[in-house]
Amino acid sequence: MPTYKAPVRDMMFVLDEVIGTDRVLSMPKFSEINKDLVEAVFTEAARFTETVLQPLNQSGDKEGCTWKDQTVTTPKGFKEAYNAFVEGGWPTLTGNPEYGGQGLPNIISMTTEEMICSSNLAFSLYPGLTRGASIMLERHGSKELKDKYLPKMIQGTWAGSMCLTEPHCGTDLGLLRTKAEPQADGTYKLSGTKIFISSGEHDFTENILHFVIARTPEAAPGIKGISLFLVPKFMVKDDGSLGERNSVFCASLEHKMGIKASATCVMNFDGAVGYLVGDLYKGINNMFTMMNTERLGVGMQGLGIAEVAYQNALIYARDRLQGRALTGVKYPDKPADPLMVHPDIRRMLLTMKSLNEGCRMLAVWVSESLDIMEHSEDPVQQQDADDFVQLMTPIIKAFLTDVATDGANLGIQIYGGHGYIQEWGMEQFARDARIAQIYEGTNGVQALDLIGRKMPAHTGRYLRQFFHPVEAYLKAHENNTDMAEFIGPLAKAFGRLQQATVGIATKALGNPDEAGAAATDYLRLFALTALAYLWCRAVEVSSQKIGQGDDEFYEGKIQTARFFMTKILPQSSSLFSQIMSGSKPLMEMPDVRFG
Ligand SMILES: Cc1cc2nc3c(=O)[nH]c(=O)nc-3n(C[C@H](O)[C@H](O)[C@H](O)COP(=O)(O)OP(=O)(O)OC[C@H]3O[C@@H](n4cnc5c(N)ncnc54)[C@H](O)[C@@H]3O)c2cc1C
Repeated sequence: MPTYKAPVRDMMFVLDEVIGTDRVLSMPKFSEINKDLVEAVFTEAARFTETVLQPLNQSGDKEGCTWKDQTVTTPKGFKEAYNAFVEGGWPTLTGNPEYGGQGLPNIISMTTEEMICSSNLAFSLYPGLTRGASIMLERHGSKELKDKYLPKMIQGTWAGSMCLTEPHCGTDLGLLRTKAEPQADGTYKLSGTKIFISSGEHDFTENILHFVIARTPEAAPGIKGISLFLVPKFMVKDDGSLGERNSVFCASLEHKMGIKASATCVMNFDGAVGYLVGDLYKGINNMFTMMNTERLGVGMQGLGIAEVAYQNALIYARDRLQGRALTGVKYPDKPADPLMVHPDIRRMLLTMKSLNEGCRMLAVWVSESLDIMEHSEDPVQQQDADDFVQLMTPIIKAFLTDVATDGANLGIQIYGGHGYIQEWGMEQFARDARIAQIYEGTNGVQALDLIGRKMPAHTGRYLRQFFHPVEAYLKAHENNTDMAEFIGPLAKAFGRLQQATVGIATKALGNPDEAGAAATDYLRLFALTALAYLWCRAVEVSSQKIGQGDDEFYEGKIQTARFFMTKILPQSSSLFSQIMSGSKPLMEMPDVRFG
């Protein structure tokens, strides 16, 4: 049976020593939060996820959700775990105190989210969607809607769902057909079918609030004619108590590859009462608030799975005895050496470790900007942080989930045949991880977002939020001989990224397929360069700490960084070549010749 131990030491290293808490905790809003409080929250989150959520992960996968008479029952123990989650105040963590939230910063919640995802990815979807929905409602809803629904959403008493996808439209939401008919009393009646709706129906909460995109009768075709509606499962009376059942029902559950304890529902809206959220025809814009929150959340799902897969693969590699070290017997008292002695096993473990720890630094770096964007009183700082979050959101979503799938597969490989057998739990990680590359906009679509929207936005303004700090860092360290083995590879990868950026921008002006053809490779090149920069910062900190009492940890950081720079980052060279080879090899072959 797999295990999980929250990596609190590494989380504190990243937050406190590499990224630093100063910029966030010095803001007046967070004046009462200090490092000890952050550590206390992490420690408690570790206890909760390790002892309450993780033990349900395998049984939840085996049992799955069940559907009967339009209601959904979650696997044994899940409802009780959710009640404990609510009692522990976890849904309220970052919520606005005006509506009953604790108002803690994202630098805390991003990390606790990683723990929840590591311990039980399927469980994480239920509160994750509610959180995204409440952020969106707070930003775009009327005061009346906010007062009525937000406090219970933030408490976790009511849940949220996000209803976008229809049978004929997923990526291209402009095709959607769900109708919203205006009523004399200012409400709307929604009719249509949504598929693949996570948490569309379940037994965790007394009410579920569906955030649905639909088209009013006179709406323009395509994306511009879409509006957003709040459709409660149970109507809510003026005094806040629940009224009659609304006509939105779960018609069935999807049978799927992984995250089986997460209810993925087909939802029928049959003249269901809905309330407009924000302005008419601004539905996609408003929904993007939720989607962007969810995209960062899905990135954390990726990191969570990658971390737990690594932890278990490491335990196995230490325990399993097979063969002898190539350089001679290492454990003569045992019938064979542990897997750890084999270079290929170490290659796989270090690939996982260096990418996971790098991704954790990236996620915390972005969450720092999320806090500044939301809470800074300085408009310039706020705008810069917003630009950085915009730029990095597709990278976090796509790269961290690619790392998860690759890492879960490496984990299986380290277990050999046992990785393929259910009881060890590794194959569940691979099945669970896979969806994260698909939902919330596929990773291909994230790459298009980076290259087509974020890269050219405001003539490269978003890009500057990454390029400028890296340039300044390289300049400051150009004569740092102690760091040369790390700075050199970063400088090369960064040069390739700069050249690729200019190359694509130039070529795409004449032919948009050039951007489409380069997108996925460009996103990966960008992500690896960002990780290289953060690994340099981690090495700098670690070098200064050696000799002060935790040398295993800091030496380990430097060696992991060395592995990353020499064994992973060279991919930047092939990615660069692939990018520069252009669109012709993809586009010249007529469709008919595909066979
Ligand atoms: C388990 C699960 C849970 C989900 N939860 C939710 C939920 O809660 N709410 C919700 O609304 N939806 C949900 N979804 C739906 C999910 O977001 C969609 O499946 C996803 O957005 C992709 O849409 P699609 O499946 O229709 O694929 P398509 O849009 O048909 O895409 C198929 C392929 O074509 C590519 N592609 C499509 N368009 C383009 C383009 N313009 N350029 C380049 N490539 C393109 C895609 O990248 C993909 O590889 C869920 C799906 C699953 C399986």
